[in-house]
Amino acid sequence: MNNRQIFLTHQAQTTDFPLMIEIERAEGVYMYGPEGKSYIDLISGIGVSNVGHRHPKVIAAIQNQLDKYLHLMVYGEYIQSPQTQLAKAIVETLPPSLDNVYFVNSGSEAVEGALKLAKRYTNRAQIISCVNAYHGSSQGALSVGGNEIFKRAYRPLLPGITNVVYGSFTQLSLITENTAAVIMETIQGEAGIMVACKEYFKALRNRCDETGTLLILDEIQAGFGRTGKFWAFEHFGIVPDILVCAKGMGGGMPIGAFIANKEVMSVFKDNPLLGHITTFGGHPVSAVASLATIRVIQEENLLEKVEQKADLIKKLLVHPKIKGIRNKGLMMAVQFESFEVLKPIIDKAIELGVITDWFLFCDDSMRIAPPLVISEAEIEKACEIIMEAINC
Ligand code: PMP
Repeated sequence: MNNRQIFLTHQAQTTDFPLMIEIERAEGVYMYGPEGKSYIDLISGIGVSNVGHRHPKVIAAIQNQLDKYLHLMVYGEYIQSPQTQLAKAIVETLPPSLDNVYFVNSGSEAVEGALKLAKRYTNRAQIISCVNAYHGSSQGALSVGGNEIFKRAYRPLLPGITNVVYGSFTQLSLITENTAAVIMETIQGEAGIMVACKEYFKALRNRCDETGTLLILDEIQAGFGRTGKFWAFEHFGIVPDILVCAKGMGGGMPIGAFIANKEVMSVFKDNPLLGHITTFGGHPVSAVASLATIRVIQEENLLEKVEQKADLIKKLLVHPKIKGIRNKGLMMAVQFESFEVLKPIIDKAIELGVITDWFLFCDDSMRIAPPLVISEAEIEKACEIIMEAINC
């Protein structure tokens, strides 16, 4: 029995996963290994721990909810108060046209819901998405992904999907009266932090309006304060028709949502059973954690210093091996010559106590996306370690 070989199926637990380290505990920006070795988490569990690990207010909200209930009945028969309160708090952060929130369990599921909603509302089937986009691992989300290597093994996927280049004005003409939706990350994450310009978003919005196409913005990575605004689209002066979020939303708990206006969402409300059924979507424990996360972002004024902290990182990470830094707030990519140059630096940084990694579709760049609560002293310490790793 004791010798039984244990197979863990998650990719991070296969024995040859390149970043494998065991973590026993985490707090704030720190994670701790079995011997008490500490690591500064510079990637927030990939954009999740925006308010830090185990924020006391998030933990208190979870503990409080544990004493009330875990799960009631789904499909709207019993309204769970944490969901109602969370929906109100989310809507308060949004422009008036985004006032209906549909809770799900994850980013991928939020994308599935958004795509279904767009198809149903427009009665169209074609979807436009971007080259090098990442929207999740379920089959619909994978279908609108923009990297063939990830899709190849699962074809046939959803039909009617065209990839355009993020930020390309000329390709906007591919959006037509047959297009149900354009789905796009406001800031491309796994492509290595790509930021289109304001004019592009304006032109995209116009083209969608002209053709009656819904604009779905995926802020699963960029939302919840990561870029210095609560929502990344606020930087660009446009509003999507459907917004999807997850990751940082739960303060460490699994939850996601797709958000639209009342008219669009009404096609799901008319007959909920033909909408998007999800047993655990918006789980009460996750919902209270999410509400606490919003309050922490607001009460601790976390958005205020994001730009300043990003500037400090840019100031400290200067080296001939660094070819450039792309960022929007604390969603950052530090570019090196190649993966061969970057990988030993990441390994060394981990050995010295700083966690970073690279991007799914951009392996020459180091991901830096620390918890927004990171202090200037912690930034200085982490950057010093990265510089030491670069110089090794
Ligand atoms: N969209 C984006 C932009 C993401 O970064 C991710 C996760 N990396 C997803 C969707 C999928 O989210 P999840 O892993 O929660 O399904």
